[in-house]
Amino acid sequence: MYRTPKDFMEYVKANNPGQPEFHQAVDEVITSVWPVIENNPKYQSANILERIVEPERSIIFKVTWANDKGEVNVNRGYRIQMNSAIGPYKGGLRFHPSVNLGVLKFLAFEQVFKNSLTTLPLGGAKGGSDFDPKGKSEGEIMRFCHNFMLELSRHIGPNTDVPAGDIGVGAREVGYMFGIYKKLQNQFTGVLTGKGLNWGGSLIRPEATGYGVTYFAQEMLKTRNEDFNGKTVTISGSGNVAQYAVQKVTELGGKVVTLSDSDGTIYDSEGIDCAKLTYVMDLKNKRRGRIKEYTNEYKNAEYLEGKRPWGIECQVALPCATQNELSGEDAKTLISNGCYCVSEGANMPTEPEGVQVFLKNEVLYGQGKAANAGGVATSGLEMTQNSMRLSWTRQEVDTRLHEIMRSIHQTCVRYGKEGQYVNYVKGANIGGFVKVADAMIEQGVV
Ligand code: GLU
Repeated sequence: MYRTPKDFMEYVKANNPGQPEFHQAVDEVITSVWPVIENNPKYQSANILERIVEPERSIIFKVTWANDKGEVNVNRGYRIQMNSAIGPYKGGLRFHPSVNLGVLKFLAFEQVFKNSLTTLPLGGAKGGSDFDPKGKSEGEIMRFCHNFMLELSRHIGPNTDVPAGDIGVGAREVGYMFGIYKKLQNQFTGVLTGKGLNWGGSLIRPEATGYGVTYFAQEMLKTRNEDFNGKTVTISGSGNVAQYAVQKVTELGGKVVTLSDSDGTIYDSEGIDCAKLTYVMDLKNKRRGRIKEYTNEYKNAEYLEGKRPWGIECQVALPCATQNELSGEDAKTLISNGCYCVSEGANMPTEPEGVQVFLKNEVLYGQGKAANAGGVATSGLEMTQNSMRLSWTRQEVDTRLHEIMRSIHQTCVRYGKEGQYVNYVKGANIGGFVKVADAMIEQGVV
């Protein structure tokens, strides 16, 4: 048995060199669950720690594709099947130049606990490629997706592993991948989630992560007898998660004043209302432009080149862009500007120093695993509908999503209460871990 979390992290680092994001994700979970391991000899004797950080299967493959000029390109494809103790592997695919083995292992590891928290029978996985969709034509995107799925199709299936979208993978990419999977297998199955509405997709799936992160913040605010009414909210990112977070926050009476992309932030002190959100959706989803263009349309807004939104005054912050986008300094700035509620739409957006700042200052801090689980939860609901060959109404899916977010919040409170304060990091990690670890023990040494 390892004596301290630090001892165990030395083992993890030696065994997985050059994967800093994976170390960061493991360190955080292990620190939270350490007392549970110490007080439960069954986890020690089953060596759950070493078993839970080792992917059940890591697949790395070559993806070749030709661009519009006929030039042949090579990218690397991955699928990390982390844990299937409580259900088939489930998790998104990310297409972004920053993708590598360590990044996908961190995402797959987080996915295990997140999926466990949803209350649904879902194991954890993640995959993707270092392919950069930025600036690629429709034809190039389609050819890449087809060639990626040519290999991935051997490793997935509706009862084995069900991928979905993540950064760089939306409805368009899921469509191309589904099309070729169906052709290869000669089967129409729910092998991917995030599908189009008239071929097996679920209502509310596009909205789910953004709505869920807002519902989670709403639950946290409720513990202090507060709501979104009249609150100023900063949001980072401008993709799917950020867009639907803007919509839900606005509907609940909050005022969203920022959005961003990797080039900079737009600050609209008058608030990004429904009409402005429609403009953003057209800009990002159809024209695939940069967020800077917002300031050409809305002259009152400012563009903060190369900056993130965390210097802007707000009461609630929703990081919805990517990992490690909020530093310890950013966390201090947010707090000194009056922010006391943070709900993470992205995976691991806050650096470890930032997490410590939030916890020390008793911020209502909903960590990604809990706060952004609405996306994968609704993917789980899509799988259920596919199995039943039925489609639920918008209202039915939204009600279930809302219920799941409330239940995740309750789990966090149950495991994370420290006196008056709820440590949602600890709550989410322990709540997610116990279910998976117990299932592993019950299934024996496999
Ligand atoms: N990529 C999303 C996540 O990080 C959704 C995964 C899914 O729907 O399978 O949870």
